[in-house]
Amino acid sequence: MGFSAKNIKKDFPIFHNSDLIYLDNASTTQKPQTVLDSIHSMYSETNANVHRALYTLGSLATERFENARMKVSSFIGANSEKEIIFTSGTTESINLLAHTLSRNLKPGDEILVSEMEHHSNLVPWQLAANRTGATLSYIPITEKGELDLSEPDLYFKPSTKIVSISHVSNVLGTVNPIKKLSEMAHEMGAVFIADGAQCAPHQVVNVSDSGCDFYTFSGHKMLGPTGIGVLWGKLEILESMEPFMGGGEMIENVTMGSSTWNEVPYKFEAGTPNFVQAVGLGTAIDYLNSIGMNEISEHEDKLTAYALNKLNKLDDLQIFGSPTDRTGVISFNVKGIHPHDLAQFLNEDNIAIRVGHHCAQPLLASLNETSIGRLSFYLYNDESDIDKFCDSVIKTKDYF
Ligand SMILES: *Cc1c(COP(=O)(O)O)cnc(C)c1O
Repeated sequence: MGFSAKNIKKDFPIFHNSDLIYLDNASTTQKPQTVLDSIHSMYSETNANVHRALYTLGSLATERFENARMKVSSFIGANSEKEIIFTSGTTESINLLAHTLSRNLKPGDEILVSEMEHHSNLVPWQLAANRTGATLSYIPITEKGELDLSEPDLYFKPSTKIVSISHVSNVLGTVNPIKKLSEMAHEMGAVFIADGAQCAPHQVVNVSDSGCDFYTFSGHKMLGPTGIGVLWGKLEILESMEPFMGGGEMIENVTMGSSTWNEVPYKFEAGTPNFVQAVGLGTAIDYLNSIGMNEISEHEDKLTAYALNKLNKLDDLQIFGSPTDRTGVISFNVKGIHPHDLAQFLNEDNIAIRVGHHCAQPLLASLNETSIGRLSFYLYNDESDIDKFCDSVIKTKDYF
């Protein structure tokens, strides 16, 4: 049987007996029953703190937790599960990097981001620049909503030490050329970080082939629980880094005066990890694999083409950006209707979209907007969701 969004929807309790049209997947995603079951079974059958207890329950919990790490590792093509650090999400992953990698920065050094970054991949670097005296630079974007790489020497310089760019924009859906970017970063001797929060849930990612030194993403945007995310890093770099947070489990030996560190990845997982959520993420990965990541991205590509075609035919609807390589994230405004009013009218028809600045205020400023609407698709959406969205927009326009 081929890919069927309709059948997939049946696996998600939130859609049962509901006419919900959920088009806000770039914010967070719905959870299949299997993920809910695995969280429940962790708490009800194998709940004990991981890596600490010598009793059976503790080893069962640890086994499930470490098994989830292996699932993440193979999902993104890591060379070893030691390269997988569990964090609370993309935000924490990037903060970890901003703290540890900026340690040796000094005035004159540069951190390079882009104009399309989510605040999570911008504010931690602003803080790091303020702490160290380093300069924060950014690659601007073109009219099409792609990175403007026409004069790379302006941005990639010998003083560039850290480059951190989103793999996919959470506003424009642009897929950025991370391999090329990482090569340009490495030529300057800089490390390259990709914020994969909008890519890992939707496309096959192979971190080992990507050229990146670090890759980050969040569980809740890929059918998994909140409170769990991933930082992947190249093993030799992770081993050379200082820890981020201090606490239980990240140490090897502690005296009143000093401590030595546990091995990677535990060196970066201070305190009791979100092991229940990690197991839930592992189950979400099993679910995604059972459908097939290639099938999912093909489905979303078809849906995006269908949506762009329909939206382009709607009078007064303006789409922001037209990147050549893109995913199922589409931002737009309807002339004469404030996006917040539109969202409220759509809500009357049980259609959920996001409006606002999408945690990317500098990008919105470059578009001369303060608030825009956004549709974002996932595996359970289909053409009928887009049709209903368009009908509701037309109805709202008629009202105004
Ligand atoms: C959602 C998102 C983040 C932040 O993820 P959290 O899960 O909120 O930590 C960072 N970058 C991009 C591109 C995102 O879409």
